[in-house]
Amino acid sequence: MRSFFSTLLLLNWGLLLVLLLLAAGVIFVEDLIRPEFRPLIFFLYVLIAIFGTFYTSITIARKVTDPLSLVERKTKEINAGDFGVELSYPEIRELANLTISINEMARRLKNQFLDLTVEKEKFNSLLQNLKEGVFAIDGNRKFLFLNRNIPSSIISENSQFKDIQNSVKNRELLQFIETKIKKGLEGRSEFQEGNHYYNVRIYPIKSNEIIYLYIGVILDITEDRQNQLIREQFFQNASHELKTPITSIKGYAETLEYRLNLPENSNEKKFLDAILRNTDRMVRIVEDMLTISRLENHKTILQSQSFPIADLIQSVADSVGVIFSKKNQNLVFDVAPSLLVHADMVLMEHVLVNLITNASAYSPEGSIVMVKAEETFDRYRIQVIDQGIGISTADSERIFERFFRVDMNRSRKEGGTGLGLSIVKHIARLHSGEVFVSPNPKGGSIFTFEFPKK
Ligand code: ADP
Repeated sequence: MRSFFSTLLLLNWGLLLVLLLLAAGVIFVEDLIRPEFRPLIFFLYVLIAIFGTFYTSITIARKVTDPLSLVERKTKEINAGDFGVELSYPEIRELANLTISINEMARRLKNQFLDLTVEKEKFNSLLQNLKEGVFAIDGNRKFLFLNRNIPSSIISENSQFKDIQNSVKNRELLQFIETKIKKGLEGRSEFQEGNHYYNVRIYPIKSNEIIYLYIGVILDITEDRQNQLIREQFFQNASHELKTPITSIKGYAETLEYRLNLPENSNEKKFLDAILRNTDRMVRIVEDMLTISRLENHKTILQSQSFPIADLIQSVADSVGVIFSKKNQNLVFDVAPSLLVHADMVLMEHVLVNLITNASAYSPEGSIVMVKAEETFDRYRIQVIDQGIGISTADSERIFERFFRVDMNRSRKEGGTGLGLSIVKHIARLHSGEVFVSPNPKGGSIFTFEFPKK
């Protein structure tokens, strides 16, 4: 393999040699040629020189342009995704190096392309075999992708590259997706289609703060819903069934105590007192269970009205005053007397009693509990701030579950039922709001109850 430069030299020298040999031949035979033929010989010589030069130039040019046009064709094929056969090596070294590089590039691209195809296939089959329905929406509100687990009653089949407006059949789902896309937010919701209940989540995918994709996940939660209904039904039945016998035990125990008139430090009196104490606890538990059942079944229809929250806080403070003075604790307020909230007053009283008595129960003697109420432009916020034992991050979600206690013995000692915060959570939900706990920077906890203004 020669370099372009040496090929050029070689061909030129070759041509020169031929011309010199011809010239030498002509000079040698000049005397033998008749003078009238000499111009013809000279003309032939010039003709050979011209055609020789022409032929040499074409040969050189083709040695360069042929491989170059092959390279050009190959790069076009690669560009179109056709990696095909490798280029053969031309004679000129520089061009051969270029061909080697192009072949190598094609080989590498082909491997990368194959890897990507395999990865894409893996990803595709994973998505298609998920139990959840998955979809992706682009910036133009068109479906980029949908897996096969999305029922056609919710989103029409073959909706890929079609507008969401014409493809999403379930109105609730469409409204949810459109709101989230409009606000550019992630979100979660539930919707119903026929006899089935679904949970949907949507996430914006951002790059440099620009959203270019939304990923949605739909999960059929009908079975969970049914199980939840069975659990709620059981909870409701159990509380109803327990109420009558407990009330009757309490009644008989009180009658016995009254009739027997036992001496103060006798064992029988202690036993009867224990029965009465535990029956009272059971009565409280059953009452809380019934309250939860009522809230869960939406039997409690909100009786919303506008009232000064400061008055309600004051009245709750009066009713729990004994508890606070027993522990030498202070209850202070930070509430504007003019602040009116629009809510169910009876349920709000429940919330305040639960949060304030908890704040006292889980705080040391002599500590301060503050109740704060304020409004933002679209929400009401009520906070109960204590200086008590606090709640770990791990427990801060779980304390709102029914019967969950961080410390069972302490809760029992304080006469707790383990249901108070669960009731508060239900009331928050009924007001389309939420309740959560966060650590008090000065030690203790801050319970925040928030709900939107209507
Ligand atoms: P309980 O009747 O046991 O107080 P709740 O549902 O009201 O039931 O509270 C659940 C658990 O949350 C309590 O047992 C306690 O462990 C924890 N808790 C509630 N309020 C507070 C608080 N202010 N500080 C620390 N822990 C708390």
